[in-house]
Amino acid sequence: MQKKITALKELTNNLWWSWDTEAKQIFEELSPLLWQRNNHNPVGLLQHISDDELVARCRCEYGEKIDRVYERFTAYLNDKDTWAAKHAPELVEKTVAYFSAEFGIHESVRIYSGGLGVLAGDHLKSASDLGINFTGITLFYKEGYFRQYLNHDGWQMEDYPLQDAENLPIEKVTGADGKDIIVTVNIAQSEVFAQAWRLKVGRATLYLLDTNIPANEPHYRDICCRVYGGDQNMRINQEILLGIGGVKLLDQLGVQPAVYHMNEGHSAFLTLELLAMELSKGVSEKEALDNVRARCVFTTHTPVPAGHDRFSREMMHYTFDKYISTIGLEFDELMRLGSEDKNNIYGLFTMTVLALNLSRSANGVSKLHGEVSRTMWQHLYTDKKIEEVPIGHITNGIHASSWTCGYTGRFWQKHGTTVDNLSLSHEAAEAILANVTDEDLWSLRYGLKRNLIDFIDRYLGNQLFHQHINSYYSDYNTLRSAKNTFSPDVLTIGFARRFATYKRAPLIFRDLGRLDRIINNPEMPMQIVFAGKAHPHDDAGKDYIRQIVHHSRRPEFSGKVIFLENYNLGVAKRMVSGVDVWLNTPVRPMEASGTSGEKTVLHGGLNFSVLDGWWPEAYNGKNGFSIGNGESFENHEEQDSFDAEKMYTALETQIIPAYYERNELNIPVKWISKIRNAIATIAPEYNTHRMVKDYTTKYYLKK
Ligand SMILES: *Cc1c(COP(=O)(O)O)cnc(C)c1O
Repeated sequence: MQKKITALKELTNNLWWSWDTEAKQIFEELSPLLWQRNNHNPVGLLQHISDDELVARCRCEYGEKIDRVYERFTAYLNDKDTWAAKHAPELVEKTVAYFSAEFGIHESVRIYSGGLGVLAGDHLKSASDLGINFTGITLFYKEGYFRQYLNHDGWQMEDYPLQDAENLPIEKVTGADGKDIIVTVNIAQSEVFAQAWRLKVGRATLYLLDTNIPANEPHYRDICCRVYGGDQNMRINQEILLGIGGVKLLDQLGVQPAVYHMNEGHSAFLTLELLAMELSKGVSEKEALDNVRARCVFTTHTPVPAGHDRFSREMMHYTFDKYISTIGLEFDELMRLGSEDKNNIYGLFTMTVLALNLSRSANGVSKLHGEVSRTMWQHLYTDKKIEEVPIGHITNGIHASSWTCGYTGRFWQKHGTTVDNLSLSHEAAEAILANVTDEDLWSLRYGLKRNLIDFIDRYLGNQLFHQHINSYYSDYNTLRSAKNTFSPDVLTIGFARRFATYKRAPLIFRDLGRLDRIINNPEMPMQIVFAGKAHPHDDAGKDYIRQIVHHSRRPEFSGKVIFLENYNLGVAKRMVSGVDVWLNTPVRPMEASGTSGEKTVLHGGLNFSVLDGWWPEAYNGKNGFSIGNGESFENHEEQDSFDAEKMYTALETQIIPAYYERNELNIPVKWISKIRNAIATIAPEYNTHRMVKDYTTKYYLKK
């Protein structure tokens, strides 16, 4: 019995469980209520369950389930016959060090903000599945990203519940002597100390640096307070800790990575510490730079200027003065490495420029974003034409099994397969689909939509409960009228992502009369569910949320348009699995890739998007819907009007009629043929297994 309990506890300490349907089930089964209250965190859950109860339950069938899952877990960890063993043995031997300011692995580990983190988490999981020796580096944010709630006016409020290491599947990293490993970095004239935590994600390891220790002055403890929190000064301190601290940690652990991957420019200071190590060997500066370049790869993630960190010369000087003098580099030389104009080292220091200058390869995250990035950074390569700028692309994907809810997982299991099999190739997916009837797929859609509606009902119940105590009664009444009004018979649209303004969440409300006619068409109605967080400093994004909340309270939309608070990985999974159509309305070409639409496909959802990010590569006219044809206008108003018009027309003439056109069994045959096409063409391409294989063969392996 004790063996089973030990096994269960061991399972909680590796996030592998988060993408294994049965593993998740064994935790949930212990207590569905505690599972929910603990934000699906098994470590927290088990703290509420006595050993007596565990013993009693393990004696029965439950114990056998633990054995089965544990066996699969150990087989997974010990599997030697992996993709990497065949195709990248060098990367079984030596690790890939992957640096990212955020990792979205599971909603219970709140060290992520949005898409960049989710991508990093999915990358880590696929690397583990493929057998690549993989090490992630990030920070341990004690408050994480904020928890969102709305006030009576629909204005976003933020609170920051602490996350306690005790309740997380992390352990302190100690040295051979049993003492905590402490990393020291120089910031301004101070020494800042960080301890390290280890989080296991399948075969991969994620290290989290943490300055929240007594050895530090209070303001340096706060470096590890919030994801993207604070001002420019906080940002540069976080980035020093991530980049320089991360390299030092690996060095102290004796880890010698085969390659350093900078996931976005936040971690680009890592190149300076590598440079320091080279210079300390006594090589020339040029040689040192070449050696660093030979070991680093860089992925850029956004064409939005605010997404690229820039620091003033004064701030750089203040922060780096001491560090730079210790490594033997001139301050002006440092500025040159990060200046957009090599002849002007008195302007801003740009992290992306540093990363581009000191990596052997660089890439954007979709075909279109690769093109945009080459144009955007051409001025750094004055001798090159746009098409010669050395920035390639690898299109983002998703980790299929992480994004499969239990219901969908069991559906494919019943058909003798898994979502990983569906993601292998177009032919494999078609062969599987040939044995799935339209009736099956339609029943899957109903089941998933019913689950989403049940979830919305519960979730709104909580939302209105705390709004009831926090705010005015008017809101309570609106929300109560919204509860229970979604119907699984109605075409359901989902929109959820960060509320960055370029994503234009409120676009569908541009013509309220027309939207009213669409939503309230008695024969062919529609309903929409929204969610998303705006960055705490982004008032324009918060205003978008407020606009949507206000629209949702109009009598004609009440109960048919809803906004769910506190978008996170858990809410995302509910939404992408339940909706019929996933809407995306970015201003082209601002969406570097986007991934949320890829998550909906294996659940039978269809994408409806501006031809931006990954969608122009994937869209074939039969596997979803497009808004316009990639038209761009200088004028924002013109662009919004044009795109809104195209969106309404597509809804009225294509999407809604196709959804409601039924055969004699009341099945929308044409709609389902689109679902089939979407699964067969999108799943095999837009997943992180394919993506990580591409990174490995194109960038990680030395040519
Ligand atoms: C997938 C995901 C995102 C990314 O969505 P985009 O479509 O890329 O904007 C952001 N946040 C969460 C919680 C997600 O799950």
